[in-house]
Amino acid sequence: MAGLDNLAQELNIAVLGGGYAGMAAAVALAGRGIPVTVFESARQLGGRARGMTHQNTQLDNGQHLLLGCYHQTLNLIEQVGGNLEADFLRLPLQLDLHGHFALQAPRLPAPLHLLFALLGAQGLSWSDRLSAARFMLTLRRIHFRIAADMTVSELLKLHGQGDTLIQKLWEPLCIAALNTPVHIASAQVMLNVLHDALNKTRADSDMLLPRIDFTALFPERAANYVRKHGGHVLTSCGADALQLHDYNIEISTQRGSLFFSHVICATPPVTTARLLRPIAELGAIIEQIDALQHQPIYTVYLQYPSHITLPHPMLGLYQRVSQWLFDKGQIAGQHGLIAAVISAQGLHQKLTQEELAQKVIAELNEEFGISDSPLWVKVIAEKRATFACTSDLQRPAQQTPLPRLLLAGDYTAGDYPATLEGAVQSGLRCAEVLSAASNPSGH
Ligand SMILES: Cc1cc2nc3c(=O)[nH]c(=O)nc-3n(C[C@H](O)[C@H](O)[C@H](O)COP(=O)(O)OP(=O)(O)OC[C@H]3O[C@@H](n4cnc5c(N)ncnc54)[C@H](O)[C@@H]3O)c2cc1C
Repeated sequence: MAGLDNLAQELNIAVLGGGYAGMAAAVALAGRGIPVTVFESARQLGGRARGMTHQNTQLDNGQHLLLGCYHQTLNLIEQVGGNLEADFLRLPLQLDLHGHFALQAPRLPAPLHLLFALLGAQGLSWSDRLSAARFMLTLRRIHFRIAADMTVSELLKLHGQGDTLIQKLWEPLCIAALNTPVHIASAQVMLNVLHDALNKTRADSDMLLPRIDFTALFPERAANYVRKHGGHVLTSCGADALQLHDYNIEISTQRGSLFFSHVICATPPVTTARLLRPIAELGAIIEQIDALQHQPIYTVYLQYPSHITLPHPMLGLYQRVSQWLFDKGQIAGQHGLIAAVISAQGLHQKLTQEELAQKVIAELNEEFGISDSPLWVKVIAEKRATFACTSDLQRPAQQTPLPRLLLAGDYTAGDYPATLEGAVQSGLRCAEVLSAASNPSGH
């Protein structure tokens, strides 16, 4: 314990931003006995993955799902008191584009489960199925690495993936995983996700649909954990400015200024650029952040009478505005509540929220014969849901030229696209760097 006491004297860390990245860093630091204070500008924690209430119904700012390969996120949820069995509905890998395409992984070890799933896929010609299976075997042979990044479209064409196969399998997967259209999305990042999700254990490809909201799932539990370990979590207390001094960094908030040995800036990229722009040494990082483009995600929640259900808890629609549908009754006991998710840029952005809602209602009627009117509809447009995960993108590293200042967030350097796992990994990396620097002998 003496080691921890020493650390406590040397370090006093501010984490700016109480999203998944910031809270992951705070949990890792607090768990090592390092004093940490989280500053979150909003009233509630969670950032782009947060719970909200509408018409007395618990929603999220957008329907999310996790993959079984999100090990760091799932471990952290357990570390702060979560119970994965209770918190998630876990579904084995399955893709179902209602009536047009269906793929389900049989109970075989990875990657056989995927090969059999591809070979048995419904809605594809035999030659498309063979071509997809051959592509996966090639990817395994090259260890899911390409010498130079390219777009997902380019990679698919290079490996003979036909138009129907792209439209039914690879495009929906790419948009779901990278929130970026295939013609600009990074092939290497897509391969990183395929590698982790499809190439290791069968459980890694499971889809985990949360039964509780995203603030309750991790950030709220993380805050309790941090407080129990002597740290502080301040909500409605955003950082207005940050000033470097010789031996510390000053954080100004509306409640006053505080001094810290180190700062992990885990705010969204646009805010990070605003806070750090005055610091001359960070010019190159600000340029990288300014160059990021963003992609939207729209979620349309529809509360139907409680007897309305979908054929599966989650299914896709082919060449419709609604890309993925989630039956919250089957997932979380919220009977009659359906979430329609529309990821990445597209023509839907030209519609008003009312028009978009009507479109989704019409599609639910045409596809499933749902003729009841919803009791209420809530459209949530997250216009900057994620950074556009384009090919050859230069993302800023967690470590900056200033040893006292680190960056966390889904947009920072890493193998993953903008995901909860990418955010969590970045926060953990910052905590790792600071713990190691303060304790170089490793004791
Ligand atoms: C609708 C939607 C659906 C998504 N679906 C999925 C999915 O299915 N699976 C998946 O893995 N990922 C999904 N994502 C992406 C995922 O939510 C993000 O990658 C992740 O939440 C980003 O976390 P973060 O901590 O990096 O950033 P953020 O969540 O943006 O956290 C930053 C925090 O900083 C706070 N802040 C801002 N300014 C200040 C300030 N001045 N001082 C202090 N705090 C400040 C913000 O309020 C916020 O809480 C989705 C995103 C959206 C929007």
